[in-house]
Amino acid sequence: MTYDVVIIGGGPNGLLLSCELALAGVRSLVLERLAERATMPKANGLVGRVVQALDRRGLYERLSGNDGPPVAVPGFQFGALPLELYRLEDNPMFILPIPQRRLEELLEERARELGVEIRRGHELTMLRQSADEVTAEIAGPEGGYALTARFLVAADGGHSTVRKRLGIGFPGITDRGFTSRTGQVAIDPPVAVRGTGELDVPGLGRLRPATFTRTEHGMFAYGMFQPGVYRVSAVEWSPSPLEDSTSMPLDELRDAVHRVLGADVPMRAPDGVHPALRRSTGANSRQAERYREGRVFLVGDAAHVHSGIGGPGLNLGMQDVLNLGWKLAAAVHGWAPEGLLDTYESERHPVGERVIMHTRAQMALTSPGAGVTALRALFGELLTDASAVRRVAELMAGADVRYGDGHAHPMTGRWMPDLTVNTGSGPTRVATLLHAARPVLLTRTSGAAKAWSDRVEEVTTPDAPAEAVLIRPDGHVAWAGEDTDGLEEALHTWFGTPA
Ligand SMILES: Cc1cc2nc3c(=O)[nH]c(=O)nc-3n(C[C@H](O)[C@H](O)[C@H](O)COP(=O)(O)OP(=O)(O)OC[C@H]3O[C@@H](n4cnc5c(N)ncnc54)[C@H](O)[C@@H]3O)c2cc1C
Repeated sequence: MTYDVVIIGGGPNGLLLSCELALAGVRSLVLERLAERATMPKANGLVGRVVQALDRRGLYERLSGNDGPPVAVPGFQFGALPLELYRLEDNPMFILPIPQRRLEELLEERARELGVEIRRGHELTMLRQSADEVTAEIAGPEGGYALTARFLVAADGGHSTVRKRLGIGFPGITDRGFTSRTGQVAIDPPVAVRGTGELDVPGLGRLRPATFTRTEHGMFAYGMFQPGVYRVSAVEWSPSPLEDSTSMPLDELRDAVHRVLGADVPMRAPDGVHPALRRSTGANSRQAERYREGRVFLVGDAAHVHSGIGGPGLNLGMQDVLNLGWKLAAAVHGWAPEGLLDTYESERHPVGERVIMHTRAQMALTSPGAGVTALRALFGELLTDASAVRRVAELMAGADVRYGDGHAHPMTGRWMPDLTVNTGSGPTRVATLLHAARPVLLTRTSGAAKAWSDRVEEVTTPDAPAEAVLIRPDGHVAWAGEDTDGLEEALHTWFGTPA
């Protein structure tokens, strides 16, 4: 049996891709090497444009438990410096707090609803490809087997076996200059201030959740992701040769927090919850030389790794997926125009480079030394200027992304704003129009995309922000114009020859 697409890795990016392909009518198989989902805590939430992107699949309410569309947050941090986002008129920063394990559970639930086949305990060990197909060798619970697919996507994380087997370079740096310790702990009153989420640390004062505190010895951060359980993290600038560990004693975390803050934060193992104590030394920031090799594509951490400061990982990876999914589906259905699949790398590699740039910059801004303290003072002054806040916020949110260049219309290549438009069935948000992951032509005059009606949804509305706006399934504008000259060419360029 030959699958259309085999996805290696059932983490958030592999699962989301399987949902995207299923929405586009493509059958995929997800192979995940772990028999059970890992318990070690990873992401605490989604930060940036990805929150709105998931709203465009109808997933925001399901993942957040909130009603209605996402709301921008009033503040955030860049390199442990405050970003006063409430001062911006069109604030681009959205956050969805959710533990990664829960995110994966809900994405898996969604994938299964859409009919995706997911095999746990199945590990890719080797692969080869010809001009027409990819063959993967799999070690499963009942032994080894091989399967073939028209395309294979590596969503197998930072240590990607697929990337290594294909010999795709992963250049970058390994910064061994710090040690980070995290764990889930209970912190009791009066240090834990009831009702505010703050910590009142004797000798230090009040600390706020979800913010970083930089000192000359390191960085401290904490948050509460389930009632009574705090995720505490201490980073120290100490290049001593320690081993990474997932079974660190609680005292080690407590001592590290003391060294960073110069004060004690009393903490104990939480009742009924695994403290999940982890020590890791240094961080990689690396990016795959290429995101495509023939019929194989890399997404998410398989394509890039970087410091987690500011939580950019899933924003980057899940938008790789949203960029690739519809293009791969077009290739499977046989209507992908020449070169469409190559735009995945040409569009997403530069976005990955910018994330590596801003996470390295943030790590530099949090490191110790009088020079850094001076740089922080200067940066802090610049960030009193709303235009600087906007620029940094857009960079962190991935809201400054514009695909392609030389566009005639200011909307082309950019993120389509979530306007409410009146259609035949009443006022509708653009986000809702994109739930089916189909391209949408928003037009004031109907009929322009009739020949593409099997693959493009035409929505006629007097509220279209231009005569015609062609929106890709990933929410970016493929083409916009004040008249329809050029629309047909754009439909051919992005959505192929009509059937
Ligand atoms: C402590 C920590 C905190 C983080 N916090 C945040 C945060 O707050 N916000 C954020 O956005 N990001 C955060 N991140 C980053 C985020 O967790 C990653 O970006 C994300 O997990 C990447 O998802 P992925 O699907 O690409 O890869 P992974 O989550 O690594 O999933 C890859 C999957 O592939 C499987 N696999 C590997 N090899 C094979 C194989 N050969 N065959 C079959 N299956 C295989 C693995 O078992 C795994 O399940 C954090 C990371 C860590 C470690």
